[in-house]
Amino acid sequence: MEIQAPKGTKDMLPQDAYKWHYVEETLRKVSKAFGVREIRTPIFEHTELFLRGVGETTDIVQKEMYTFNDKGDRSITLKPEGTAPTVRAFIENRLFNEAQPTKLYYMIPCFRYENVQKGRLRQFHQYGIEVFGSKEPSMDAEVISLAMEALKRLGLKSLSLNINNLGCPKCRPKYNEALKKYLQDNYDNLCGICKTRFEKNPMRILDCKEKSCKEITKSAPIILDYICEECDTHFTEVKRYLDALDIKYTIDPGIVRGLDYYTKTIFEILNDDFTVCGGGRYDKLIEEIGGPEMPAVGFGMGLERLIMTLEKEEIEIPREDTIELYIGARGEDAKTAAFVLANKLRAKDVKAEVNHMGRSIKAEMKYANKIGAVFTTILGDDELQNNVLKLKRMSDGEQFEVNLNNIDEIESVLNS
Ligand code: ATP
Ligand code: MG
Repeated sequence: MEIQAPKGTKDMLPQDAYKWHYVEETLRKVSKAFGVREIRTPIFEHTELFLRGVGETTDIVQKEMYTFNDKGDRSITLKPEGTAPTVRAFIENRLFNEAQPTKLYYMIPCFRYENVQKGRLRQFHQYGIEVFGSKEPSMDAEVISLAMEALKRLGLKSLSLNINNLGCPKCRPKYNEALKKYLQDNYDNLCGICKTRFEKNPMRILDCKEKSCKEITKSAPIILDYICEECDTHFTEVKRYLDALDIKYTIDPGIVRGLDYYTKTIFEILNDDFTVCGGGRYDKLIEEIGGPEMPAVGFGMGLERLIMTLEKEEIEIPREDTIELYIGARGEDAKTAAFVLANKLRAKDVKAEVNHMGRSIKAEMKYANKIGAVFTTILGDDELQNNVLKLKRMSDGEQFEVNLNNIDEIESVLNS
């Protein structure tokens, strides 16, 4: 019987590879422009890291983690997100001793046991940024602007930016009290998980995806009415910097985001279908994971959702796998010559292809056409004796005669 991939996972097939490469290369380029360097951390971590770093009251920890005991009976979890592992590595490798800020990015697979649907997988991929060491609002704006620049370079137009401020440990307790007071009357109608959140982290209830909870929280008090002066000033400054960069945003007091650790600024970049990018400031997380007191801000961007958006907007992505020259051959000597020529051209990065299927000349040309070869040529006794190569441009049938041994000349015709 045929074995299938596990539910919620996807193969990246060769015909789609160019899309991934294009997106990844663009993101790496933008990262470089912003002085952000790559970090790679393991696919799995001690479960404890996520309990502490993501938060006990989050959907991720409560329902979505791939957790198992390894043969040494340690509790291990496949990365559900990239922030906690990056913070762990930052602390463990003492990167906080270097000149700050530390700007890091990663491209990683993430694992979450989710209800599979459009744009919601069990293994998906994230590009993420984490910047450590700066508490300044300009850094929040820089991180947001990096995300916006990446989307702009990819040509995406349908996405909009929503921002909010979640307050800090100084002002949030007051808000939590107000929220609890509001929710109290409807406590019985909250879902089971939200009942447990009510005491531990009532704000989390605002992010619940259950219909009944959504209904209840519709007219709940909003955090922006409760934030302290420091948070308010910070928010005003972030907005001022975004305005200076001419980045359009909407203030959405309803967003709280799925993770427990956020303080002050949070943001989402979304379209009608889903959130493509989400992030914010998390000034308490480094301490929480055992590091020094140090502010931080970052985001995670879902690559599957990004590519789905590119496809939906019908944005043309440059292809990379077109064969530039198909070299057909008549006879054994010609076949060897074609093989050698292809090898020489490939050494110069020319994408050349030859016959490995025992095809007839006619079938070879049909195949060359099918794979979209830009030029074709046929080597035979005549060509070998006279050292000539007749390159045929498939788009218009025009022929170019070149010296078989002059690789530079061949290359220049192919590039013309
Ligand atoms: P959502 O509200 O859609 O569940 P989230 O708040 O759980 O998202 P984050 O943890 O902030 O998402 O992850 C950042 C980004 O990663 C999301 O904006 C999204 O693009 C992507 N992402 C998250 N979960 C999935 C998933 N199960 N499948 C595909 N992409 C995902
Ligand atoms: Mg989620």
